[in-house]
Amino acid sequence: MLKKILDKSTCAKCRLCCSFVQSDAWETPVFTKTDFDYNENWFKKYGYNSHTLKFEFKDDAEIKLCPYLNENTGCTLSEADKPFDCKIWPLRLMKKNGRLVIALAPICKGLGEKDITKINELLDSGLYEEIMKHAGEKDIIKEYNDEYILIK
Ligand code: SF4
Ligand code: SF4
Repeated sequence: MLKKILDKSTCAKCRLCCSFVQSDAWETPVFTKTDFDYNENWFKKYGYNSHTLKFEFKDDAEIKLCPYLNENTGCTLSEADKPFDCKIWPLRLMKKNGRLVIALAPICKGLGEKDITKINELLDSGLYEEIMKHAGEKDIIKEYNDEYILIK
């Protein structure tokens, strides 16, 4: 959903959002599509009707790649099958003091504070409504923390 404002070549060199360390394992995408044809060995149950990737880390330094990542070509899932978390990354739907907010992940090298105007333009052109269609899906809403950049 953010392809219009993310530079493909930056993402190709980065792949940060498809790799995880123990401390950011809570960021692993949540798969909510019930008819998704997934490999059960890769997943663990997350919420009532959702799953997330199952990683077992040896130590804090170990990096695990999402099993759907092809390191040369990127994500191997279709747009339809990609989890919502990945579709809107580096934006996140979060809860701050009980209110739903949209925040920007600070670790993304492709978008940062300097890009807030163009992120807001994209949100105002329909993305905000698209994201808010998921406002009822508790499993995908993360608790806001101050490391994130508040957008809306
Ligand atoms: S973290 Fe940002 S720059 Fe890196 S691959 Fe993900 S979207 Fe692209
Ligand atoms: S599902 Fe695709 S976009 Fe999401 S973390 Fe895995 S490889 Fe990356």
